[in-house]
Amino acid sequence: MKEILAQVDQVFTYTSKLRREFHRQPELGFQEFHTSEIILRELSKLDGFSIRSGVAETGIVAILKGGSPGKTVLLRFDMDALPVTENTGVDYASQNDGIMHACGHDGHMAIGLTVAKLLSEKSQELSGQIKFVFQPAEEGLGGARRMIKAGVLEDPRPDIVLGLHLWNEKELGWLGISDGPVMSASETFQIVIHGKGGHGGKPHESIDPIVAAANIITSLQSLVSREVPPLDSAVITVSSIHGGETHNVIPEFVNLEGTIRTFTPETRQLVLERFRQVVDGVAKAHLCSAEIKIIDISPAVTNQPEVAEVLRETALSLFPNMELDTNYQTMASEDMAFLMQDLPGCYSFVGSANPALGLKAKHHQPDFNFDEEALKIAAALLIGAVGRLLID
Ligand SMILES: [Zn+2]
Ligand SMILES: [Zn+2]
Repeated sequence: MKEILAQVDQVFTYTSKLRREFHRQPELGFQEFHTSEIILRELSKLDGFSIRSGVAETGIVAILKGGSPGKTVLLRFDMDALPVTENTGVDYASQNDGIMHACGHDGHMAIGLTVAKLLSEKSQELSGQIKFVFQPAEEGLGGARRMIKAGVLEDPRPDIVLGLHLWNEKELGWLGISDGPVMSASETFQIVIHGKGGHGGKPHESIDPIVAAANIITSLQSLVSREVPPLDSAVITVSSIHGGETHNVIPEFVNLEGTIRTFTPETRQLVLERFRQVVDGVAKAHLCSAEIKIIDISPAVTNQPEVAEVLRETALSLFPNMELDTNYQTMASEDMAFLMQDLPGCYSFVGSANPALGLKAKHHQPDFNFDEEALKIAAALLIGAVGRLLID
């Protein structure tokens, strides 16, 4: 284990250089063409990989075979940036206007290539194979689904799926590896409440969709507080409300939009079913009608305890002094959930903030940046876990 730490230290210049190269040239989901070229360039320098590119547009699948047959471990790294204008002031800042690696996926790819480089040097010691998956379009655009359609979970089908996120919600030196659901299932919704427009001074001649909307929003919050079991969790956020044009006209309709987050399949089913009933029923009570559209974004990311235990054992032996949080969950969502849906896996969080260096902005913010020391921790964790999983 000590030797893994020495190895990631030794190649850190390579890791950091790559991360900054990705950072300079961020690309949005399914447009990661240049990004994909960099990954291909680096993988083709390494021995023992069979590489497939252009998977789901810009994705790459590279398989590294060990010295003897055994299990297949899939390692997933996401590639896309966000439509955010960078404001970090670093010399490797984005050169693509209005696009920024503001979630840390630049780091994830650098971690992936570092792991690939170091494992390729000792692949003969491993029993089984490692499937490196560089996935486009994680940020709500359906990259994982497209990769699955393109066959990423077949030929060979992985036995275990691993992924991780650099996590600025926590400081460097913190690791989150929990059992069960760690990131929430996510749905977005769009509602149109139809009433009947009219004069603002004569409401009795109209059907007011604004009053109906106000009651719907309140009732949805009661659904969470009164029907979801208190020890379970759910979020319903109405994040957009639009209706009406002026002070004395009751509008025809009101638009609502928002998101629903849950952890367990049971709560997800309960909330989705009751969501429709509440919106529909409250609209009707106000003589309005409701059009409801629910878009399923992703299921929950759920860790299998046996695999999570391997990651925890690896973490403890590599980093005995780090804070290992075994109860961490977040209401953020991740389409990694699709890759882990039918396969045992573990998704870990690697603390990457460092307030002393001013690196504490949250993900998706224009001043987001992380401590690159976290790249070493993440790479070592994956190399160590693969070593444990693929040794007889
Ligand atoms: Zn993100
Ligand atoms: Zn992300």
